[in-house]
Amino acid sequence: MKPYHRDTWVEIELDAIAENIKNLQRRLNDETDIFAVVKADAYGHGDLQIAREALRAGATGIDVALLDEALRLRRNGIQAPIHVMGWIRPEDAPLAADHDISVTFFHKEWLETVQSLSLSKPLKLHMKWDTGMGRIGIRTIEEMQALLELLPHENVMLEGIFTHFATADEVEAEGEAYYQAQEQRFNEMLDYFRTQWPEEVHIHTGNSAASMRFPEKMHDSVRFGISMYGLYPSPDVRAQQPIELHPAFSLQSRLVHVKKINPGEALSYGITYRAGGEEWIGTVPVGYGDGWIRKLQGMHVLVDGKPMEIVGRICMDQFMIRLDQEYAVGEKVTLIGSQGDECVSIDDLAEHLDTITYEIPCMINQRVPRKYVKDGKILEVHNPLLEKS
Ligand SMILES: *Cc1c(COP(=O)(O)O)cnc(C)c1O
Repeated sequence: MKPYHRDTWVEIELDAIAENIKNLQRRLNDETDIFAVVKADAYGHGDLQIAREALRAGATGIDVALLDEALRLRRNGIQAPIHVMGWIRPEDAPLAADHDISVTFFHKEWLETVQSLSLSKPLKLHMKWDTGMGRIGIRTIEEMQALLELLPHENVMLEGIFTHFATADEVEAEGEAYYQAQEQRFNEMLDYFRTQWPEEVHIHTGNSAASMRFPEKMHDSVRFGISMYGLYPSPDVRAQQPIELHPAFSLQSRLVHVKKINPGEALSYGITYRAGGEEWIGTVPVGYGDGWIRKLQGMHVLVDGKPMEIVGRICMDQFMIRLDQEYAVGEKVTLIGSQGDECVSIDDLAEHLDTITYEIPCMINQRVPRKYVKDGKILEVHNPLLEKS
């Protein structure tokens, strides 16, 4: 059986992932490692394939948001260090320890519960400091002191310290000042920590924006997410071009129907579109059921290296485009990516949807198979619909 039976697919250029990692590596200090962030199915790119490629390219560890994401990587043979950046339930600590998964902590009660459980080996912990993101983490020296007093225990090992920046991707004065203030707060907390804790710990602060813009300020590692995928964290950072990036993600399909319609004839639900004259209309078998949302009406896709407007409402499984001439059924349609000199970039889509680049590949869901390309050859096709559960 073929791995999929629809002419719509996401193509992932694994070489781009490797290039982006190497380009960041060249900019960082020699002592700073790269952890590849593959949460949310690697921002829609495919967690296992991206984790493997990132590690091959020189990443030394993996970051995810959820314990289940970490377990999936372990069950599929990823042996590198894995850190869960979000909160896990204390009762799941034994499972994390069994699989050598490092987890995040910041509550005294959480630590007490974990220490009361029976663990196969010490659980590796990263203490989260909230220096201004306001999401999770301790905010005061008193909270730190309480955790440190409690820490020495056979069940746990303090492996790392980390924080997360709220405005590392903003270049205007207010955002930049907030970034500096967070960094200063982190350094104050670190100074105090060092007077209390002589042992070595792994320190990591930067996301993509911070690690590309302030590489000399990074510590033992950075958490490289969006820009590993070749996307800039914000238009501000894109304008600065701190490192060269290659987008890995494209979305392709093929026309399934082509017809000529007469002036005034209507298209799709709610008849929001009527032909201005005689028009060639193509049907593309992609819709909001794939994550190609209705708000993309009015955007364009590429056919024959030219932009063609999406006309009429986008349906669950299909949408229509106005063509400049007749094309054969099977003609390639690029929804995200380049054709010839033209490109519909993830930045363009983010702008059209008034959102950030991160949301675009995450939006294209598991109904669309992923093809992995390396050295111009298809390595693997991943289609969750037909994989054994
Ligand atoms: C998602 C996430 C990252 C990665 O951020 P990018 O901007 O994608 O590089 C880093 N750290 C934490 C805590 C995160 O949640």
